[in-house]
Amino acid sequence: SPKESRHFIQQAIDADLASGRFDGVFTRFPPEPNGYLHIGHAKSICLNFALAEEFGGTCNLRFDDTNPTKEETEYVNAIKDDIEWLGFKWDNLHFSSDYFDKLYAWAEKLIEQGDAYVCDLNAEETREYRGSLTEPGRDSPHRDRSPKENLELFRGMRDGKFADGEKTLRAKIDMASPNINLRDPVMYRILRAEHHRTGDKWCIYPTYDWTHGQSDSIEGITFSICTLEFENHRPLYDWYCQKLGIHHPRQIEFAKLKLSTLLIGKRHMLRMVKEGLVDGWDDPRMPTLSGYRRRGYTPESIRNFCADIGVAKFNSTIDIIRLENSVRDHLNKVAPRRMAVLDPVKLTITNWPSGEVVTNEAVNNPEDPNAGSREIPFSGELYIEREDFREEAPRKFFRLKKGGAVRLRAGYIIDCQDVVKDDDGNITEILCTYDPETKSGEDNSGRKVKGTIHWVSAQHAAEVEVRLYDRLFTAEDPSKCEEGQTFVDHLNPDSLKTVTAFVEPELAKAKVGDRVQFERLGYFIVDQDSTDDKRVFNRIVSLRDTWGK
Ligand code: ATP
Ligand code: MG
Ligand code: MG
Repeated sequence: SPKESRHFIQQAIDADLASGRFDGVFTRFPPEPNGYLHIGHAKSICLNFALAEEFGGTCNLRFDDTNPTKEETEYVNAIKDDIEWLGFKWDNLHFSSDYFDKLYAWAEKLIEQGDAYVCDLNAEETREYRGSLTEPGRDSPHRDRSPKENLELFRGMRDGKFADGEKTLRAKIDMASPNINLRDPVMYRILRAEHHRTGDKWCIYPTYDWTHGQSDSIEGITFSICTLEFENHRPLYDWYCQKLGIHHPRQIEFAKLKLSTLLIGKRHMLRMVKEGLVDGWDDPRMPTLSGYRRRGYTPESIRNFCADIGVAKFNSTIDIIRLENSVRDHLNKVAPRRMAVLDPVKLTITNWPSGEVVTNEAVNNPEDPNAGSREIPFSGELYIEREDFREEAPRKFFRLKKGGAVRLRAGYIIDCQDVVKDDDGNITEILCTYDPETKSGEDNSGRKVKGTIHWVSAQHAAEVEVRLYDRLFTAEDPSKCEEGQTFVDHLNPDSLKTVTAFVEPELAKAKVGDRVQFERLGYFIVDQDSTDDKRVFNRIVSLRDTWGK
């Protein structure tokens, strides 16, 4: 395909394959198991798996688990489930912790080469010696220890001879480097913490930088794709591979996905879960993949979205509407139409033969000729949406009004004569007549009306719970806060409304995970909280973007 239509990572790969630098495309998705995957991770997953697939290579799943205090097996399992749900299959499953022995041996090699040393500065002193962007760092007083002494001390660290934080192993690079990551970065810290896989075998743990590139190397990764904040780490990535003389993958950075109205950092999400601001990681309002799954998003819609937005070298914010439209587009094609009334008011057809029930045929999906049709019961007592009726309405109101007419979807044209009210003046019943000549599909009457509304037959309708989800935050960028505020101040108080609704009778038997379009209302999925007696539907997305309108 032409060069312009290939994104910069594909172009880099094309060049490296052409020059013979690499002979294949081997990628990995490397999550840290310290939380659930979010929509940003989907972007990285789609990218890594798609590149491997495009070039006939492989993509590994590697858990980057070097931080024992934050990592848990629960997260490992959730991450695997989410990747599979998205529709990807990793070629090999690895854990960075599987490489702890190898990394340890490589650390001794650097010590022997004079490229690493044991340092006694504590965390605060280390920071202070490091300098800043405007100020060069200062050499540690322990920088010139001999390889022999360093080896002994490092083994002592491993063997538990020192307290947590008492010593570190550092790479000996350049304390005056303009790149702070090269100012003798820490490779190992002493930390007595139980690791989710290695238990208490180790009391020293490797840092991210000392682990990541070598893990890539061990696995034969050729293109190590990561996000922009690691651009300044690339010289260190390269330095370690060069000093060790090992297979040297190419790190390529791309811009993190950021979506308007979302907060997708694991730190923020963890806080929301821990403080009960949401109902767990898979709360349908969460930007986690498990949240989107429960909300009813399809894996296809997320994959399509990731493909559509492309891969960028510069940070920008994508409008959340693009993600919402992606699920609308997909469900428009595949979701069967059904009728549901969320805010019911009774409508009686006064000229309908008493007690008579007929079945009307309704098309399942006008977008899909193969979806067929269904029979729905029609009777003289219906529910319609309260919003679809006005006693007095402006001229442009094309739904039902007193003295007006409207078409009932898969029904008839009805004319409204009157309303019944309770003592407080609330409408309790709408009285109409139907026009027998106007049955949908058989209408030769020549009558035309502007509006069509949905309905259910009162005696046949099933009662269900409907959870109307909306955006979790009201702000375009919930991370932006005034002084004294936090993102919590941006929470949308109306992000969940629960109503009891009436739906077509067959939906009483809908299965968990079934997705439908409620005509004129939006797309909905049957939630796992459903019982035999009462189905629960989550609103996935409304039919159109109505936010702020
Ligand atoms: P967070 O900021 O949410 O903690 P992270 O980058 O620390 O995310 P990791 O588990 O380290 O999370 O990420 C695994 C992979 O997913 C990394 O390669 C990372 O670059 C990528 N990734 C994380 N967030 C995004 C994002 N918003 N857009 C694209 N890729 C992302
Ligand atoms: Mg992180
Ligand atoms: Mg990370």
